[in-house]
Amino acid sequence: LGRKINAAVADLTRSPNLDEKAFEGMVKDICHALIEADVNVKLVATLRKSIKSSVNFSNLAPGVNKKRLIQKAVFDELVKLVDPHNEPYKPKKGKSNVIMFVGLQGAGKTTTCTKLARWYAARGFKACLVCADTFRAGAFDQLKQNATKAKIPYYGSLTQTDPVTVAREGVDKFKKERFEIIIVDTSGRHRQEKDLFDEMVQIQEAVRPDQTIMVMDGSIGQQAEAQSRAFKETADFGAIIITKTDGAAAGGGAISAVAATHTPIVFIGTGEHLLDLERFAPKQFISKLLGMGDMQGLVEHVQSLKLDQKDTMKHIAEGVFTVRDLRDQLSNIMKMGPLSKMAGMIPGLGNMMGGMDDEEGSLKLKRMIYICDSMTEKELDSNGLLFTEQPSRMTRIARGSGTSVREVEDLLTQHKVMANMAKKMKGGMANMQKAQGAM
Ligand code: GDP
Ligand code: MG
Repeated sequence: LGRKINAAVADLTRSPNLDEKAFEGMVKDICHALIEADVNVKLVATLRKSIKSSVNFSNLAPGVNKKRLIQKAVFDELVKLVDPHNEPYKPKKGKSNVIMFVGLQGAGKTTTCTKLARWYAARGFKACLVCADTFRAGAFDQLKQNATKAKIPYYGSLTQTDPVTVAREGVDKFKKERFEIIIVDTSGRHRQEKDLFDEMVQIQEAVRPDQTIMVMDGSIGQQAEAQSRAFKETADFGAIIITKTDGAAAGGGAISAVAATHTPIVFIGTGEHLLDLERFAPKQFISKLLGMGDMQGLVEHVQSLKLDQKDTMKHIAEGVFTVRDLRDQLSNIMKMGPLSKMAGMIPGLGNMMGGMDDEEGSLKLKRMIYICDSMTEKELDSNGLLFTEQPSRMTRIARGSGTSVREVEDLLTQHKVMANMAKKMKGGMANMQKAQGAM
């Protein structure tokens, strides 16, 4: 998608007469690209109007960078679409927060509920899981396995066939035991069926969740709008999690779901692994959708500064990004400043440092570097997986660096974002380097 939109914009700036007609044509191309990326057709029509009115082509002052302006207008309008101006429920410590998952079969509910429980557990909540999926054979086993791996207490039954009973029993038990995050996993169906919806409502009435989350497969495409509407009408969920954003799908469906239900996306699933869950960040999501991830910009900037980048550049060209590469990048950023601008260029980092001034941001960066410096050589040169396999490493590093396990986790999440980018950029970067070598 990004390539198509950027191509459309490039065409415009290349055409000799940068007139209104060329602009109209470009907006049309962008809209086609968005529809192809599964953004809802009606939404795109609205978007088209707002882009046109926000750019006001005929009144542009001479010398304005039209390409930038148009890109920014597209970006801003899309960001607006994924911001529903509705705050999601925030679990509170010291009370039982019941969270119920709903969604179609295969959407990623069972996988994601363990990820989310672990996410809260890592932040000091007492978290647990209830398996109310008695429909699919093996559902409880799957949850049990995931939960055991994540060291999350769970409840389920192999004999009780009524999901409402299991849900009620599990939630009651964990409430008595003063669990703070109780996540109820439910069954899905292949399609939106009446019995699924009936079951959903019955479980909801039985456990009275503080938050219902709809889990949606990021590759759902144009069905996203109708599906999310149907679930919203029945289960009135208050938050959305989009899974499989690591896949090939363009992700436009996510935008449509938010727009159709005015409900915020809270997390995105970025892989099959337990740690593959990220807080949703609208700007980051849209830049990825548009292929504007500023990693490339950052690499170019760093090159122009002639800092020592050899290994990192070579790694990125190979599609690899080690923890040590992240450490080198962080320490380079410290040298380059101003921090606020630089942090914004690294996918994910700007988001993490949102609202911090340069002083706070520097401190945060320093702490991240301390964390890296408490790692062993093997850990630094790794792809990060060994921390998931042996979480005790994180405790050791937190202690050694005078930080917290949560900060170590954040750093590893940051590393993952960049490693994934590097993987995706593999071909492109290699070509870029070749081209530069030739110059
Ligand atoms: P459920 O039927 O809604 O409970 O879905 P599951 O949790 O069983 O997930 C269905 C499949 O999707 C499994 O193979 C998961 O490993 C996979 N899956 C879930 N979330 C993600 C994700 O974020 N990325 C990728 N690549 N796969 C995922
Ligand atoms: Mg399931």
